[in-house]
Amino acid sequence: MSRTPGRNDKCPCGSGKKYKQCCEGKGPNPWGTRVMVGLVLATMLGALYAGVVSFSEEPSSATPVPGKVWSPEHGHYH
Ligand SMILES: [Zn+2]
Ligand SMILES: [Zn+2]
Repeated sequence: MSRTPGRNDKCPCGSGKKYKQCCEGKGPNPWGTRVMVGLVLATMLGALYAGVVSFSEEPSSATPVPGKVWSPEHGHYH
């Protein structure tokens, strides 16, 4: 549990000013921003990876078996 400073409390950066007059607008939590960027990047990479996998995955009907007939109803060769 983290204690968030009130806007009228002294700024946690130690400047002696009130928080609302000092660091409030400067991006109060740089780690939070980094986590957000990391999450977005991870999501994008995951989507890219999923796309690559689905593209490289050949459908079974694309690999014909000699002497057999593909049955779409059964989902296998006869
Ligand atoms: Zn400050
Ligand atoms: Zn069958």
